[in-house]
Amino acid sequence: MANVKIIIDGQKITVPNNISILEAAKKLDIEIPALCYDPNLDVVAACRLCVVEIEGSNKLETSCSTRVRDGMVIHTKSDLVVKTRKDILQLLLDSHPNDCLTCQKAGDCYLQKYAYEYGLKFRDHSGSMRPQLLDTSSPYILKDNAKCILCGKCVRTCSQVSDRMVLSFSERGYSTKIIADFDQTLEESSCVSCNRCVTVCPVGALVDKRAMGKIRAWDGASKVIKCKSCQYGCEFEIKSKGTVNVAVVAKPPANGRPLCLKGRLTTELLYVDKPEAPYRKINGQFIETNWTKMLGIEDILERIDKINAEKEREGKE
Ligand code: SF4
Ligand code: SF4
Ligand code: SF4
Repeated sequence: MANVKIIIDGQKITVPNNISILEAAKKLDIEIPALCYDPNLDVVAACRLCVVEIEGSNKLETSCSTRVRDGMVIHTKSDLVVKTRKDILQLLLDSHPNDCLTCQKAGDCYLQKYAYEYGLKFRDHSGSMRPQLLDTSSPYILKDNAKCILCGKCVRTCSQVSDRMVLSFSERGYSTKIIADFDQTLEESSCVSCNRCVTVCPVGALVDKRAMGKIRAWDGASKVIKCKSCQYGCEFEIKSKGTVNVAVVAKPPANGRPLCLKGRLTTELLYVDKPEAPYRKINGQFIETNWTKMLGIEDILERIDKINAEKEREGKE
């Protein structure tokens, strides 16, 4: 792999020739805003927010999908770049509900963060807004299509696990939306509540329902722990207020870690002070259940009881 010499915002750097401008900029601590980019997913250059100006090119290029070339001179904050990003963000805000005061994602939302950084606001207008399509059917995930910015990260991350592929785009233009299976609710669909999609959603269109109303992004403390349920060791954050652990939320499934509901609930049971009742999906319906059934340990506990009873009968400890 050869190296190339490039200049980004006046700073010279030598980088491998197989990386993108966005990745090269990161090496210089230059943050380029992006809503659809994720280092663990295919690059689709859908949101266009990461555009940069390259000297000698007559159009802006998306930095996530453009590889570095020797001698490139790149500007990530030129007037044209900033104006273009502001236009893209304003269009998103113009069809987005003004719900930051109560949105569970506030403080951890990329649309909110970039709107702040680029000095943009929601605007009053009489034009169309994205339709209100709230899916409250799952006890684990709240899906709010009105807040969706159609970055497609949820679709790409769900389909990374071969037997899932639950989510996809449906319809066209302004009516485009993310659907589960054949436009079913999350409850009716084949969704397994692994929360991969929730961890990658950059806005409040998919949120962890079990953390809702308990803690906000800037509240309390959080500690990262590894799941003990299997060898993948997915990471979870234990969210706490004072000495009380109030919720467990999944971290993004990096390095091939699949994430699963069982791992998340086991972690919840082990760490959360007052865990909510778990729910199992049976024939397309969520049913409240108990922890032994949910974690599939009923048979194991029964077997242990029998062995202990036999030992007692035999007079052993
Ligand atoms: S998704 Fe982000 S921008 Fe939208 S209401 Fe929630 S915090 Fe605000
Ligand atoms: S929770 Fe998991 S299975 Fe369900 S839609 Fe999201 S990524 Fe797919
Ligand atoms: S639900 Fe979230 S991750 Fe999926 S397309 Fe919409 S904004 Fe992107």
